[in-house]
Amino acid sequence: QKAEWAKLVNEKTVTADGIHVELAANIGTPKDLKGVRENGGEGIGLYRTEFLYMDRDQLPTEEEQYESYKAVLEGMEGKPVVVRTLDIGGDKELPYLNLPKEMNPFLGYRAIRLCLDEQDIFRTQLRALLRASIHGNLKIMFPMIATLAEFREAKAILEEEKQGLAAKGIKVAESIELGIMVEIPSTAVLADQFAKEVDFFSIGTNDLIQYTMAADRMNQQVSYLYQPYNPAILRLVKMVIDAAHKEGKWAGMCGEMAGDETAIPVLLGLGLDEFSMSASSVLKARSLIRNLNKADMESLAEKVLEMGTSEEVVEAVNAATLS
Ligand code: PEP
Ligand code: MG
Repeated sequence: QKAEWAKLVNEKTVTADGIHVELAANIGTPKDLKGVRENGGEGIGLYRTEFLYMDRDQLPTEEEQYESYKAVLEGMEGKPVVVRTLDIGGDKELPYLNLPKEMNPFLGYRAIRLCLDEQDIFRTQLRALLRASIHGNLKIMFPMIATLAEFREAKAILEEEKQGLAAKGIKVAESIELGIMVEIPSTAVLADQFAKEVDFFSIGTNDLIQYTMAADRMNQQVSYLYQPYNPAILRLVKMVIDAAHKEGKWAGMCGEMAGDETAIPVLLGLGLDEFSMSASSVLKARSLIRNLNKADMESLAEKVLEMGTSEEVVEAVNAATLS
């Protein structure tokens, strides 16, 4: 089977009825590009920049960041690269920031919340990204957006930094798409409003599931509640995709669910445009999608949205795909 998949490295991801979707990869460092190339990733759907900040004792400089972003953009040779701004906090700590201990770190001071507060950290990263933008096809994404106000503020800061660079005569790419992670239920529910202002959505199911089900993604005792196929999750995903399309925007997914064999048929049916997963899952997903009919998956999606439990959904997916 591995040999069959290997033949798909340079193939496009097209369904049996001829619909193209994009299969991108999640990376943490420029070193991960090798795996993306070997597995035929069509782009980077999530570059988790926190690793630049971790395993060290001080913040990375603008120059260090610039070099990493440039390496990834050049390495992808014009293919899309979605870079997520710093998503620290929750399970990812930065000891040198000396942040106060919290009762509920996943509900606390993290990601965009911290960046809007500690603006020096945020602005340094944005400048590094803007300067690197001329080296490829950069898209910038903010994590953990809960309100429109947060998005607008973060966007305004980005615009300020862009103008600051322009004033100094430093070149920045003409058009850089700006999107958000949809990983907090408030944002999924209000996706129609967000869709008017963002260029794209990327659904972060790892967090979206934990926040929707109120089940800590790290806690084994409540892991039975961590249900990607729960129709409640699928309905939120549908709302986000429909909202994007209504405004002519695209919707991707970069949580683990995007590479999950049971989820993929449903996501395809819901109209997801981009699936971003660990590089090692890309070829298997491509092989699966090439055997699915989008039209059939649309009927499947319609059906499972009306179900009551995860178990029923899994059964319906199996019945529709294991024939
Ligand atoms: C997510 O929440 O789905 C996601 C992709 O981000 P992370 O796993 O880094 O929180
Ligand atoms: Mg997340």
